[in-house]
Amino acid sequence: MNTEVYDLHCHSTASDGALSPTELVQRAQSRGVTALALTDHDTTQGLAEAQQTAQTLGMRFIHGIELSTNWQNKCLHIVGLGIDPTYPPLAEATQNLQNIRLLRAEKMAEKLAKKGIDGALEAVKKAAGEGMITRTHFADFLVSQFHVDSQQDAFDRYLAKGKLAYVATPWAELEQAVGWITQSGGIAVLAHPLRYGLTASWMRRLLEAFKLMGGQAIEVVTGRHNPDEINQLANYAKRFDMAGSVGSDFHSPENQWVELGRLAALPSDVRPVWQLLEKSGG
Ligand code: AMP
Ligand code: MN
Ligand code: MN
Ligand code: MN
Repeated sequence: MNTEVYDLHCHSTASDGALSPTELVQRAQSRGVTALALTDHDTTQGLAEAQQTAQTLGMRFIHGIELSTNWQNKCLHIVGLGIDPTYPPLAEATQNLQNIRLLRAEKMAEKLAKKGIDGALEAVKKAAGEGMITRTHFADFLVSQFHVDSQQDAFDRYLAKGKLAYVATPWAELEQAVGWITQSGGIAVLAHPLRYGLTASWMRRLLEAFKLMGGQAIEVVTGRHNPDEINQLANYAKRFDMAGSVGSDFHSPENQWVELGRLAALPSDVRPVWQLLEKSGG
């Protein structure tokens, strides 16, 4: 009987999370998590510190990442679990992605400056530090400068696709990203499948394509799912013979709706992704 409490999707200051890798692992432990994967956007920078802390606390730690990818003109997020961050093509890809994110940030800041909002680039660079610059950093900047009332408002007015400061980004192709994950020994998991606004037929096409590329799992339980959504995702997992993952997508203690480890159980008829992790040694 597996009695671990899993949380296989969360963020630290290496990308757009509010907590350092150490603080994140400590918080996960205090919330009852016994097996944690850190999955920062397009970077593995936080893994070593998180692993170290997890080891000290006697927690199981799984090396993870959340890659931003392009498929059929849609930006899809792929979580890699049990990856090897030293695998050269993956390490090279994350280096490139850091640069791609910096170039995007420069363009976004220019767009904001044209609307009379100055200083964004300096602010997001400072906030991101050594980590990845994300739109969340822009959202926080816009809130801090009183241009918007909330992160959500910042996305709705400035940062979402088609809005004023939006810049299309040349993410890796889905197939390539799945390759980096699987060839480094990891399991590729489609993150939050219901967040892309796909119709049922697009979802079917995506899952078929993802499977052919080597994708092995989908997130069935995430921090904000209701029972209907979990049921829907469990059905997709079963129909496409994919394993199911669980992850809060925790970013910050300030978001009271999403907490580390506060997750519904994976439906018992869905094959858990951790069975695959054990096989891959992740
Ligand atoms: P990026 O990868 O830099 O494009 O930033 C994407 C991140 O922005 C996501 O991982 C979320 O954390 C955050 N995000 C995206 N859309 C929204 C939204 N509507 N409201 C709040 N945060 C969002
Ligand atoms: Mn994020
Ligand atoms: Mn995501
Ligand atoms: Mn995420």
